[in-house]
Amino acid sequence: MTGHAEKSAAFAANEDRAHWHDQSLWFVRSKRDRQASGIPEWEALREAASAIKTHTLSRLADYLEEFERNAIANGIQVHWARDAAEHNAIVHQILASHGVTHLVKSKSMLTEECHLNPYLEARGIEVTDTDLGERIVQLRKEPPSHIVMPAIHLKREEIGELFHIELGTEKGASDPKYLTEAARGHLRGKFMGAQAGLTGVNFAVAETGGIVVCTNEGNADMGASLPRLHIACMGIEKLIPRAAHLSVFLRLLARSGTGQPITGYTSHFNGPVRGGEMHVVIVDNGRSRILGQEAFRRSLGCIRCGACMNTCPVYRRSGGYSYGYTVPGPIGSILAPQRDPQKYASLPFASSLCGSCTDVCPVKIDLHHQLLAFRKVLVDLKAVPLQKRLCMAVMGFVLSRPSLYRMGGGLMRAIVPRLPRSLVYGPWNPWGIQREIPLMPPQSFRDLIRKEPS
Ligand code: SF4
Repeated sequence: MTGHAEKSAAFAANEDRAHWHDQSLWFVRSKRDRQASGIPEWEALREAASAIKTHTLSRLADYLEEFERNAIANGIQVHWARDAAEHNAIVHQILASHGVTHLVKSKSMLTEECHLNPYLEARGIEVTDTDLGERIVQLRKEPPSHIVMPAIHLKREEIGELFHIELGTEKGASDPKYLTEAARGHLRGKFMGAQAGLTGVNFAVAETGGIVVCTNEGNADMGASLPRLHIACMGIEKLIPRAAHLSVFLRLLARSGTGQPITGYTSHFNGPVRGGEMHVVIVDNGRSRILGQEAFRRSLGCIRCGACMNTCPVYRRSGGYSYGYTVPGPIGSILAPQRDPQKYASLPFASSLCGSCTDVCPVKIDLHHQLLAFRKVLVDLKAVPLQKRLCMAVMGFVLSRPSLYRMGGGLMRAIVPRLPRSLVYGPWNPWGIQREIPLMPPQSFRDLIRKEPS
């Protein structure tokens, strides 16, 4: 099972879960709408964010160097990693040189992308994810299914069962407050015993050489402040030029992602804690290749708010794991095939192209246009299955000939509803179930093909 369609079918087979997943994400999307409509200048903010990102990407090398200069002046040690292997090796080398055996980590999709946890664990370092959702999926030995709500695919009863086994909570307990308290006690011990903390980076400010991390649980602050060693890992696209630009992005980020006015904690790290060390690892890992592609460059402006996932009718009904990539949903369906077009060829087709993702994106990435453009790239690369290419060729032939199109439509309406149902809507066509073509009143075939399409 490799393609998105096959994995989606497995998720959708549990109708109850698929429905509840859909409703949960739509609830978040609705909260986002209420927040957005409460800000009269919302569209101006999106325009500003888009313009800042476009400008930054056009001078990325300059801003990266400015950030490095200012970070070093602040006492931060800056490292550059070409790819995931270099990133993991750098982090390990820093930890090993300090004799670290236990690391606490706040949410970082970059470290998921680089598979840092298994890399460090194979070298004898215990890694504890401290974001509650991430800790839940870590205990289940699963990756996150959503970039902002990593355990959104799980019901509280399942989490209660997990905590009973892993943390010794009461059997059958599923009260969120009780479970959160249990997780807090468990994580408190991990924080106190850690020799180093690793965080992601939401924004890196070139002008100040500092980084900004947004969380709702304060876990990044604990991880960066209790141990003496703080490592922050960021992709090269996380930069913004000036501190003043933060006001634009911070107003958009939480409102778009979870429908909150602002994240619970917006923490600025401008240097090491007293007597400690702070390292920033700046990672490329294929991003400069995306920067070189004009059609897809804007995807680097993503601030990982998750709004495009929450609104996407395909993501909501197919779940994050159906994408098979660290970042799922519409933005993941653009980023993943740029990394490996053959492996992720099905993802740009995992979209209805309704444009809802583009409408909610706080940095105005033209997501559905990019998804459509990527389909063409994949067809040119012959990364699309032969069966699909043949279907598209036949469709192209028919759709470019109106009389043939009308005749085909007439035939379908005249014949298909009269065929045995098991023949038309069999297991080979699960998509067709509940989408039956209505039985037409008797009409002459000549009338049907003569009728102009409305
Ligand atoms: S593409 Fe836009 S909507 Fe999707 S996660 Fe990134 S910033 Fe948010």
